Amino acid sequence: MLTHLANLTVRGRLERDVPLAPLTSWRVGGPADWVFEPEDADDLVHFLASIPDTLPRMVLGLGSNVLIRDGGLKGVVIHLAGSLNQRLRLDPERVELGAGLACAQGARYCAAEGLTGAEFLAGIPGTVGGALAMNAGAWGGEIWPLVDWVEVIDGSGLRHMRGPADYRIGYRTVENVESDEGVGGEFFLRAVLRLTPGDPEAGRARIQALLRERAATQPQGVPSCGSVFRNPEGGHAAALIEQAGLKGLRRGGAEISRKHANFLTHDGTATAADIEGLIHEVQARVEARFGVRLQPEVRVIGRQETQA
Ligand SMILES: Cc1cc2nc3c(=O)[nH]c(=O)nc-3n(C[C@H](O)[C@H](O)[C@H](O)COP(=O)(O)OP(=O)(O)OC[C@H]3O[C@@H](n4cnc5c(N)ncnc54)[C@H](O)[C@@H]3O)c2cc1C
Repeated sequence: MLTHLANLTVRGRLERDVPLAPLTSWRVGGPADWVFEPEDADDLVHFLASIPDTLPRMVLGLGSNVLIRDGGLKGVVIHLAGSLNQRLRLDPERVELGAGLACAQGARYCAAEGLTGAEFLAGIPGTVGGALAMNAGAWGGEIWPLVDWVEVIDGSGLRHMRGPADYRIGYRTVENVESDEGVGGEFFLRAVLRLTPGDPEAGRARIQALLRERAATQPQGVPSCGSVFRNPEGGHAAALIEQAGLKGLRRGGAEISRKHANFLTHDGTATAADIEGLIHEVQARVEARFGVRLQPEVRVIGRQETQA
């Protein structure tokens, strides 16, 4: 199977045994057997149509919501951040954003085009594709209410147009209605957002204000994945963690942030196992204290170090 990939001709980058830590915002985790960075959507179609159905694959954007275990990932990681990064004005109310475009760039583009409603995306350090997969949101906004339609690609490399009605969309969750799982084994290629015409200066000012607010309340410039846990029904994960006295709790180089209790940061020496262990400890201690089992928002994937 691996030989099959070695003989494949693609226009993008296809590399073997690639460390994944630098491709994630937590900067931990083992390597992938293969990483493919497509040149464009046609290159991705060709790649998916050429690889064996049985080859495990996952799509990675900016890796800002994943914990990749120290044993790394089997199969191929399709890394979209940086490719598929087009932004286009379609008509007075709509823009097209590529799945590999950084949300921050998308938000700034919309503001510069005089379209309002996407400013909240400026502080989300992921791609448009990752935001669609997670229904990312902030300050009361979420991406899916803005979506007019999306284009996806399936495991065989076939492209399909889908609308919001094709998904069950909730708080940080998106499920394909037909397949009842994640986004149904499909990857997002692009999204068309419908926004409200407005003043570019006001849009830029709102982005600046939201970024200032974020800097004041969240740790900056350290490895993290944003909020580790979803907020439980009617409550705040950060408040429960703080009230349980867990700010500053450490395991190896990993620590529950003293600035924002739902952030887990590290000093550069932590392993993915340290982080996962700390996540479990927080779950157990919050549950013991308040009877609430916090559920991770971050997606934990890959093999433990000891697995072959
Ligand atoms: C400092 C910091 C602050 C954050 N603040 C916020 C916030 O305010 N609000 C918020 O919602 N999130 C926040 N996050 C979390 C994260 O940025 C979002 O979840 C973001 O949408 C993830 O995008 P990504 O490209 O990094 O996805 P990744 O981490 O690369 O992937 C996340 C999941 O999405 C899937 N995925 C990625 N791209 C695609 C695609 N094209 N098609 C299908 N599936 C795909 C992956 O397979 C994976 O399961 C924050 C993270 C950090 C580090």
